[in-house]
Amino acid sequence: MSNREAKSPEKWLLAPYAMRTADSAGRIHEESPHPYRNAYQRDRDRIVHSSAFRRLAHKTQVFLGTMGDYHRSRLTHTLEVTSIARTVGRTLRLNEDLIEPLALMHDIGHPPFGHAGEDVLNECLAEHGGFDHNAQALRIVELLERRYPKFPGLNLTREVLSGQGCRANKKSQTPEATSKQPLLEVQVVDAADNVAYDAHDPDDAIEMGLISLAELEESHLWREATKKAKERFAALDAHDTRRAVVHGVIDLLVGDLISASAERIREHDPQSSGEVQSLSFPLVQGSREMLEQQAELEALLFEQVYRHPQVLAQRERAQQTLHSTFDAIVHGNRTLPQESQALVESEGIQRVAGDYLASLTDRSALELTTTNVPVATVGTGE
Ligand code: MG
Repeated sequence: MSNREAKSPEKWLLAPYAMRTADSAGRIHEESPHPYRNAYQRDRDRIVHSSAFRRLAHKTQVFLGTMGDYHRSRLTHTLEVTSIARTVGRTLRLNEDLIEPLALMHDIGHPPFGHAGEDVLNECLAEHGGFDHNAQALRIVELLERRYPKFPGLNLTREVLSGQGCRANKKSQTPEATSKQPLLEVQVVDAADNVAYDAHDPDDAIEMGLISLAELEESHLWREATKKAKERFAALDAHDTRRAVVHGVIDLLVGDLISASAERIREHDPQSSGEVQSLSFPLVQGSREMLEQQAELEALLFEQVYRHPQVLAQRERAQQTLHSTFDAIVHGNRTLPQESQALVESEGIQRVAGDYLASLTDRSALELTTTNVPVATVGTGE
């Protein structure tokens, strides 16, 4: 054990199955250690200071910014996921320093207009490798962000890169996705993502009048949380009931996630993060009953919220804006910003057009229809 490791509180704080910071495989471009931040804390700061992260503030989670100012943006969703993931990770004695950058970057590759935007870019790039926001997050942190003179991207640790890589592989169902499990810190972020949207999407949808409390009570999970809220608080109006139920849903999901995961960890008793990865199943997951209840709620939301005419209208908008701009760029009728042009030779015009459009906020993308002035994709001066 190195001197540095012996002094680290991780030795006492973390469980044997957690990923130790001292065991990190390091960065692609080697850098000297920082005097008071460990490698994963530096990763967190690099993500928070990236321009792609800041743009999440003006990107759609489910509902477009023009639909009101109550609902979650991609940034506030990310912060909710990070907060839930850290709570779960700390309780399971995992490495919170690693969980934080993983959670903060998990949606950094999302294009404007949420999944509608992603679908359009995937269609545009169908013959050029397609578009997936998880893979795009890796392109951003490995290539597109320009903050350091010595290398492209953010030069994050291999654990953060491979954690995000697991998300991309899972979606594309590559053999790698099924043969090896991600670190438990990665599994926690995945589960926290589901908990966050299962609680906040109904809350946002009620606020916008797309669904009612009574309609949500058709799902077991919502019904259970409502029952608990009413037992706890005798006389609540509809507004306060909703708040109490949203908290209740998070409590039920997080409580179940922690207890079911702790039980699975106890049963399989992994002695290292390597052992966790060699298993053929994830250890961090809710109980089977709760996963079924989440699936039931998500099916209800899919039918009544995600396919609501108001939400589908934004798909139409994304389709028109992104598709026509993509075509205009590829056919030479629209100019790319200078920093994007520099990548055309190595990456191809289609991929660079996809990168550029994916980087835009909802507002910048909507402005594309009125102007041909390229919008700068990389911030300066901070
Ligand atoms: Mg997410």
